[in-house]
Amino acid sequence: MYAPGDVRVEERPDPAITAPTDAIIRLAATCVCGSDLWTWRGTDPVTQPTPMGHEYVGIVEEAGAEVRNIKPGQFVVGSFMASDNTCPICQAGYQSRCANVQFVGGAQAQMLRVPLADGTLVATQGIPAGTLVPDLLAASDVLGTAWFGAVAADAGPGKTVAVVGDGAVGLLAVLAARQLGAERIIAMSRHEPRQKLALEFGATDIVTERGDEGVAQVRELAGGLGAHSVIEAVGTQESMMQAIRSARAGGHVGYVGVAHGVTLPGEELFYAEVHLLGGPAPVRRFLPHLIGLIESQTINPGKVFDLDLPLSEAAEGYRAMDERRAIKALLRP
Ligand SMILES: [Zn+2]
Repeated sequence: MYAPGDVRVEERPDPAITAPTDAIIRLAATCVCGSDLWTWRGTDPVTQPTPMGHEYVGIVEEAGAEVRNIKPGQFVVGSFMASDNTCPICQAGYQSRCANVQFVGGAQAQMLRVPLADGTLVATQGIPAGTLVPDLLAASDVLGTAWFGAVAADAGPGKTVAVVGDGAVGLLAVLAARQLGAERIIAMSRHEPRQKLALEFGATDIVTERGDEGVAQVRELAGGLGAHSVIEAVGTQESMMQAIRSARAGGHVGYVGVAHGVTLPGEELFYAEVHLLGGPAPVRRFLPHLIGLIESQTINPGKVFDLDLPLSEAAEGYRAMDERRAIKALLRP
């Protein structure tokens, strides 16, 4: 990305092992993230030409001298946060805040260097069928993030769950809540194709209103008390307040939309009496389980990819998502 709205596909040197714990992957597929749009739209600054992308699946090409478990030739899924998976923070399940965390960037490419390969990457059972590649790619970020949102919101049997946001993460949060056994799942969306996918993923109700009216609708559908669990998957002031106000007293809000300019009012929060947990999702915690669900074809999260482009047309992927012509663009190197 050279500047907002200016994505180019260029030849760059192949990545190389720089630490003995690194691995190099040849990507089978990558994609454009909703969070990449913050940069495309100029909300996040671009100070120099920056390699983009942080979602990846592919085959290990080379592993550093200290990599023990990951082997060349394996098909692997990894997260956007590299983690050692051994420190106390990782052991507690918060790998995205690992004491040795490193961001994985530049995945919209043919090849990628992944730091802390043993802690970050999870291998599939053999080389997956091509039809499973979009599902596995979804696990790399959007599904893992949605799953964390649902777990943070304490979604489960007997619960009414509301989802704020109908991007790929919001839609997959519906899927996650369904898998976790939620009784009622309210998707908040005003876009018909996305409503359809939400229903397919397990939503029981659709609310098209936003703001105070949306909150009132959710609270009414949830017995007049508010939802037990709310997943926030946008990251704006409006969406965050909508999530908090939709939750019942004692309820849980899992917020996974990357926060931009969000300020929480202390007094309102005090009297809302809800649990708040969010942040960059510890996708690594959920990857083995999610890969299993995908390999057994229990879930098909790859349905969020409604645009499939060669990597050379990456800029069109950004444009289509920015203009909401596509939910999520898959890029094939
Ligand atoms: Zn760690």
